[in-house]
Amino acid sequence: MALSGIQIFKMTPKKNCKECGCPTCMAFSMKVAQGAMDISACPYMSDDAMAQLSEATAPPMKTIKVGTGDSEYTLGGETVLYRHEKTFVSKTRYAVSLCSCMSDEEIDAKLEEDKKVDYDRIGERMCAEMLYVNYAGNGVDKYVSLVTKAAATGKVLVLGCEDADAAKAALEVCKAGKPILNGANASNYEEMSKLATEAGVVLGISGANIDELHDTVEAIEKLGNKNLVLDTTEATIKETFATTVQVRRASLKDTDRTFGYPSIVNLAKIAQGDRYMQQALLSLFTMKYGSIIVLEEMGYAEALPVFGLRQNVFTDPQKPMKVEPGIYPLNGADENSICLTTVDFALTYFLVSGELERSGVPVNLVINDAGGLSVLTSWAAGKFSGNSISKFFKENVEDKVKSRKVIIPGKVAVLKGDIESKLPGWEVIVAPLEAVQLVKFMKDLQAN
Ligand code: SF4
Repeated sequence: MALSGIQIFKMTPKKNCKECGCPTCMAFSMKVAQGAMDISACPYMSDDAMAQLSEATAPPMKTIKVGTGDSEYTLGGETVLYRHEKTFVSKTRYAVSLCSCMSDEEIDAKLEEDKKVDYDRIGERMCAEMLYVNYAGNGVDKYVSLVTKAAATGKVLVLGCEDADAAKAALEVCKAGKPILNGANASNYEEMSKLATEAGVVLGISGANIDELHDTVEAIEKLGNKNLVLDTTEATIKETFATTVQVRRASLKDTDRTFGYPSIVNLAKIAQGDRYMQQALLSLFTMKYGSIIVLEEMGYAEALPVFGLRQNVFTDPQKPMKVEPGIYPLNGADENSICLTTVDFALTYFLVSGELERSGVPVNLVINDAGGLSVLTSWAAGKFSGNSISKFFKENVEDKVKSRKVIIPGKVAVLKGDIESKLPGWEVIVAPLEAVQLVKFMKDLQAN
């Protein structure tokens, strides 16, 4: 149960010394109750109070880390059910499924296909970050060989394996990559928990239904293992959805810490062979509440809509989406190519760069630091002005680009004179009002 500010206040030292940054112990207690401060910010809390409060004020959902190096991912740690309440913190990760029941040719073809979807969007890498390696019970050696091949991709592995011998052998070849052992259930959890703990990896737990899942998690926690994810996949799509939502609601709304772990949803089980259904469910469980979603393939048909959706859902609405300010050469542009400048609002960047690429005309797209605001908003806020543009060009562009022609957005045509007076030697050209008009505009400009 979450504690109120008054309950927390009763356990504080009541010195009102302000060392925690709050004017009084009462103010500190209120902030801790709201989740805005950590209890450890008070250096005078007794060990007994600290132990009680740390447990009671801990976030409702644990943050779990998997993978290593560039492939380390954070799962869970959510505090709200709906993005508009605050923000979601750990984005959904996708795992393409492999199975020891597949032939070598099928596995190789799948791994080759998986490599094809790997691109950047708004500075974020878009690819299926994980591989789900399922054990079909057809021989430990075959499974270990598949796990070895999958581990060589550098992706995070999720071992779908309820057989302790196979899991132990598989972990030997991949535990350094910090995979997930998704194999504990009501009948094998002690052995699986021991294996996962010894290998230092996260343990995935499943149950025949939500009650059994709850009981198994409780039993594993009693063994001292809280490095867990919950496989909420059930026999049908309907049951899987209900369990996935109930588990998240129970952890965040009812503060049931037993369910306070990230989830795995396996579409390869509940919609096996149905690519269209998997695609629909991919979107559904990205919004509600799959931390890892397993699917049979991640082609561009799946990737383009779902990665766009994920980027929207898991972007903090309180922070504007920005791209890095700088020079982006397009269509083979070099130092002699014309410049076109605009703001760092991500939507503007993608609209403008897309149209410029369609024109085929070499151009240096110069992105200004405008606070992540749109053209007119940043202009009105004084962040995209004659001063800021000329300063940015002097500091970042003039020593890298020989061309002295720059195109500015049509919506800020009024800046032309101001920029020319502050950037001597530059010719300022005004673009059309809408990005969609850029293709013809650029082609005409090149022809003349
Ligand atoms: Fe009270 Fe501790 Fe904050 Fe001092 S540091 S004001 S004792 S809560």
